[in-house]
Amino acid sequence: MSLPPWMQPEVRRAFDPELIVQVTPLLRRITAPNPGMMTGPGTNTWLVGRDEVAVVDPGPDDEAHIQRVADAARGRIRWILVTHTHPDHSPGSRRLAELTGAPVLAHAIRLQGVSDREFRPDVTLDDGDRVHCGEFSLRALHTPGHAANHLCFLLEDEQVLIAGDQVMDKTTVVISPPDGDMQAYLDSLHRLKALGLKAIAPAHGRLLEEPERLLQRIIDHRMEREGMVLDAVRDGERMIPDMVRRIYVDVPQPLHRVAEGSVHAHLLKLRDEGHVLGDSRDGPWQLA
Ligand SMILES: [Zn+2]
Repeated sequence: MSLPPWMQPEVRRAFDPELIVQVTPLLRRITAPNPGMMTGPGTNTWLVGRDEVAVVDPGPDDEAHIQRVADAARGRIRWILVTHTHPDHSPGSRRLAELTGAPVLAHAIRLQGVSDREFRPDVTLDDGDRVHCGEFSLRALHTPGHAANHLCFLLEDEQVLIAGDQVMDKTTVVISPPDGDMQAYLDSLHRLKALGLKAIAPAHGRLLEEPERLLQRIIDHRMEREGMVLDAVRDGERMIPDMVRRIYVDVPQPLHRVAEGSVHAHLLKLRDEGHVLGDSRDGPWQLA
């Protein structure tokens, strides 16, 4: 049996939490020590700029990690940005704000499902808002889909997208209602595809090249899965776990609970389009 990608020794070395990795001229990466099935090699905390630093996604509340981020910026952190309030992204913002006095900026929407419930931004950001200084400019893009409060940050000077959980390296992003919305996710992908990006800096994994092709591949993959969901309902499958067993044959069993969320998200989209009838994750579905 082969190791999952995030457990392979070369990946563990590349994402060693002690490393400060210069990824582009303006971007440095420090990865939090939280590798796992849902987080890959761990959450990437991005440091933008040198003279004045914006930190994107401080990650979990891990004292050693937050200290490493603060030390790397040498007293120059001016903004703490959060892509969304999942527990592997935002909780570290409180300690980092305490250490640096920098304000925490994030979208105002509060999530309904599993999230960092104590999170309160000092400043709320909406689509199009900018954080800028002499060295760089970051534009907030509201990209719901994975989470209703999800923001990506476009580093305009390099056309690099700091993508949070919108796109992941090697794994498929979880889209699970009520906070996840498949139509919104696809809309966000199409929008990002049109930006003329040079690279994508995800919260989990390596810097991703050829963004346009990658984004199209993700869109195609989702539409293919959706076709399979609709076929399953046509063939008389009524319950989501049965659909998952049939469709996600390439996905390990422990992830099937997660896949149920994605199938639910596809079904809600298909329902809004008039193809199927149904409502909940545990209830029956049928053709419209
Ligand atoms: Zn997330």
